[in-house]
Amino acid sequence: MESGGAMRHASLPGWLLIAALALLLLLPAAGRAQSGMLCDVCGTRLTGPTFETVSRDEEARRIVVCEACTHIPTRCFLCGLPVHHGFRELGDGRVLCEHDIPRGVLDPATAMEVFLSLKPELFSMFRDLGVLPDRNITLRLVDQRELQSVFSNTPGVHPDVSLQGLTRSRPAGRGVWEHEIFLCSGLTRQRLAAVAPHEFTHAWVRENTPRDRKLDADTEEGFCELAAFQLMTERGQEWERRQILANTYTRGKIGVLVKVSDDYQFHRVAAWIKGGVDATLESDRPDRLIAMKTAKVPSGFLVEARTRVPDTLVLKGLSGSGAHRFALINDATLAAGEQARVRVGDSNVVVRCEEIRQASAVVRVAGSPGSLELQLTPRPASP
Ligand SMILES: [Zn+2]
Ligand SMILES: [Zn+2]
Ligand SMILES: [Zn+2]
Repeated sequence: MESGGAMRHASLPGWLLIAALALLLLLPAAGRAQSGMLCDVCGTRLTGPTFETVSRDEEARRIVVCEACTHIPTRCFLCGLPVHHGFRELGDGRVLCEHDIPRGVLDPATAMEVFLSLKPELFSMFRDLGVLPDRNITLRLVDQRELQSVFSNTPGVHPDVSLQGLTRSRPAGRGVWEHEIFLCSGLTRQRLAAVAPHEFTHAWVRENTPRDRKLDADTEEGFCELAAFQLMTERGQEWERRQILANTYTRGKIGVLVKVSDDYQFHRVAAWIKGGVDATLESDRPDRLIAMKTAKVPSGFLVEARTRVPDTLVLKGLSGSGAHRFALINDATLAAGEQARVRVGDSNVVVRCEEIRQASAVVRVAGSPGSLELQLTPRPASP
C-alpha cells in the first residue's frame, strides 16, 4: 500500500519547503493520508501524517498506520506490529494480533501433528546413524514463562532460538533415555516445523554419543540447527533457511557446519558428531571431519546397542490396551496403521504395522508384496 504524497508543498515559501523536506527525510516512511484511508491498526480515518511499517515475519505485510498507533508499546509476538483491538493475550503476556490468532499454534494436538509430520523426514535424514528417538519423546507445548522455568530448573540445558524450544533428556536405566521436548506456544506451524527438528536432534545426540565424546556446546547447537536447516531445505522453506543462517546464537557454528555439510554431506557430519576426535570443527580445517576415534563403528555404546538388534523382525512385546495398543518390533514401537524404520542387523527396513492381535502383530515390509504375522516371542519359562 502506498501512502499519499503531500501536494500542498508547491504553495509554501521556499524555506518552509526545505524544512518540510528535511522532516520527510527524518521520517522516510511517513506520508499524508489520502481521503477515506483508514489506519490498519486502530481503524480510524487517517487525517494527519501516516506511517508505513512492515511485519517482521515471512509475510512481510505492509501496513499504514496513524501517528498514535506508532506509539503503541504492545506488539504482536509473531509479526511485531502494534495491536489495538481484537488481539489475543497469552498466559505469559505475549499477544497475537487479530491477523495472527489463527496462525499461532496454541493447542497441543496441532503441535503434535506438526511434529509427527516431520518424523519420516527426520528418520530418513538419520537413517543408519544409530538409535532414533521415537516413543521415548514426550512433546509439550508450553508458553515462554513455563519454558523459562524449565530452563532455569534444569542444569546444563540451553534454551534454543530466543526461547522457542528446549529438550530435557534423562537416562532411564539400561541405556534407555527419556526425552521431553518443549515447544513454545504461539509459533506458526512453519516455525514449529523448524524448531522441532532442532530439538529432536538434541535427543538424537544424547542417545548416540558415548559418554566420553566431548562435544563443544555451540557445536552441538550448530548441529541441531544444521538438521533443521537440512529439513527446511528439503521442504523448500527459504525464509526459515534464512532465519537459521541469520541466527547468531550458535556463535557462527551453523555457518561452519553448513559449509562442511555441503562439502561432505549431512551424514558424514552426523557420524562425526557421534565419533569424531575433535570437540568442534573450524572453518579453516573442515577436513578434520574425517578424524574419527574408530574407523568404522564410532562408539562402544553403539556396538553394544547393535548386538542387541535381531537379524530378522521380532515381535518383542505388546503393550497398551483397547485402541491404544503398541507392538515393539526390534527397536521400534508401532501402533496399528503406523510405519517406521526398524533396525534389522546392520540396516533398516520400513515396516508398517497393519494390525495388532492378541499375541501377534501383522506387518508389511516396504517393498515386499505380502503381509507377515509376527508371533510374540515366547518368554523362557521361569525355573
Ligand atoms: Zn491508528
Ligand atoms: Zn501479528
Ligand atoms: Zn538447542
